Amino acid sequence: MRVKCVICDKIESIEDESFIAKRLRNRPIHTYMCQDCSSRISEKTKARIETGNFRLYRTQSEKDEW
Ligand SMILES: [Zn+2]
Repeated sequence: MRVKCVICDKIESIEDESFIAKRLRNRPIHTYMCQDCSSRISEKTKARIETGNFRLYRTQSEKDEW
């Protein structure tokens, strides 16, 4: 299937059976990021972790344990 990178608008084709393709089909809200962009972003994230300004947000489960 063909996907468009949400950041640089590059069109790439990915394997129909790949994990990403399945995820995109099941949840169209998910946006696709090409390899270039995702590696660029992970580098930025790493840099931020190193500077200590980065806070990792975890999605917490909705139900509280009483
Ligand atoms: Zn891109």
